[in-house]
Amino acid sequence: MMSEMKQITLKRGKDESLRRFHPWVFSGAIASKDDAIEEGDLVTVAAADGTFIGVGHYQIGSIAVRILSFEKRDIYLDFYRQRLTAALSVRQALRLSRDDNNAFRLVHGEGDFLPGLVVDIYGDTAVLQAHSPGMHFQRDLIAQALTQVEGLDIANVYYKSETTLPYKAALDPVNQYLIGSYSTNIAMENGLRFHVDWLKGQKTGFFVDQRENRRLLEHYSAGRRVLNMFCYTGGFSFYAMRGGATLVHSVDSSAKAIQLTNDNVELNFPGDTRHEAFAQDAFKFLDAMRQDSYDLIILDPPAFAKHKSALQNALRGYRTINAKAFSKIAPGGILFTFSCSQAVNKDQFRLAVFTAAAMARRRVRILHQLTQPADHPINIYHPEGEYLKGLVLYVE
Ligand code: SAH
Repeated sequence: MMSEMKQITLKRGKDESLRRFHPWVFSGAIASKDDAIEEGDLVTVAAADGTFIGVGHYQIGSIAVRILSFEKRDIYLDFYRQRLTAALSVRQALRLSRDDNNAFRLVHGEGDFLPGLVVDIYGDTAVLQAHSPGMHFQRDLIAQALTQVEGLDIANVYYKSETTLPYKAALDPVNQYLIGSYSTNIAMENGLRFHVDWLKGQKTGFFVDQRENRRLLEHYSAGRRVLNMFCYTGGFSFYAMRGGATLVHSVDSSAKAIQLTNDNVELNFPGDTRHEAFAQDAFKFLDAMRQDSYDLIILDPPAFAKHKSALQNALRGYRTINAKAFSKIAPGGILFTFSCSQAVNKDQFRLAVFTAAAMARRRVRILHQLTQPADHPINIYHPEGEYLKGLVLYVE
C-alpha cells in the first residue's frame, strides 16, 4: 500500500527517457501538477495517459523531479534502509572497509538510486549531504536509517548541506550533528592517515574520489620532484612521499587548505623535510616557477564549469593551466591532470589537454585514462553521473 501523494502529469511523449529509467523530470516536460505541491514534496509522476511512472522529490528549477523509485511505494524509513543496505553491499564487494582503509563514499546520488543524496563514511562517522530540498526534509529519517543498516557501524551522523542546496529554496540548512557528536576526525585511506574537517572543510571534508588515482601516483613518485597543484588537504602529497619522491611541493590558494595539508603530512611523516606547502594562486605559481623544477606534476583544479553555460570558459581554463604545466615540466616528466566538471565530457577535456600540449610544443603520450572509483558508481541510465576524468601523460 502506498499513502496518497500529490501528482505531476507529463506532456505527451515526455515520459520516454523515464521509461528508460533516466531519473530526472525536467520542468519543461510537465503538463500539469496538483496545486498544493511545494518544493521538496514527494510526488508521483504520471504519463500523459495517466499511467504511473515513478515517485520522486519535487523541486523548483530545471530538474523538477528526481525519481527515487519506478515502483509504487512509500518513501520512508524502510525505503532508505533498503537503498542504503544495497549501497553498502556494493562497497563490501569493493572491500573498502578494512584495517587500513575506513574512508569511502556510501551513497553517490543517482549512482546509488538516491538522487540528491551523498553520504561519505569516515570511520564511525557518516557525513550526509543533501543536494535537493526533498533530501533535506528527509534528513532525520535518512540519519536514522543509516544507524539501522546491518554491517555499518555508525555512531555519528553529521549533516553538511549549507553549500549544496539550491540557494533560492531558502531552506537555511544548518551544518550539524543529527546523531552523536564529535569524536575522532582522523580517518585512513590505503594505510595513510588524514584529518577530516567535516565541520568546516570543503565537500564532506575530504575528496574520497581520488583514492585510486593517488595510489597510481604513488607508484610513479620514486625519485621524482613532485608538484601537487590544487592540493586541498594534501591527498596526493602524502602518497607521493610514501612513494619515495625526493621533494613534494603542495600549492593551494586557500590558507586553510595549506594548513590541513601540512597537518596531514606531519601526521604521516613527522619532521620530514621533503615537503613544503605554498598558499598561492596556481596560475601565478606556474608562471613564476623555474623551467624543469619538477618531474611529476598533479593538476586537480576545482570544477571550472559548474553549469553548461560556463563550458567555454572552463575549457579555456583547462587549456591554460595544462599548457603552463606542459611548458615547464622537466623532460621525461609525468603529468597527472584532472577535470571534475560534470559539464565537461571526456572528449572535450581530452581535446583541451591535447591543445595545451600542442601549444607547449611537447611530445606527449597518454599512459593512463582515469576516472572516478567504484564507490562513485554510475547509474547506467544516467550517464551524466560520470564526472571525474583524468589523464596520466608522459612528457618528453
Ligand atoms: N586535489 C585535491 C582536491 C582539489 S579541490 C585532493 O586530492 O583532495 C580544488 C582545490 O583547488 C581547493 O582546495 C581550492 O581551494 C583550490 N583552488 C581553487 N582555485 C585555486 C587557484 N586559482 N589556485 C590554487 N588553488 C585553487
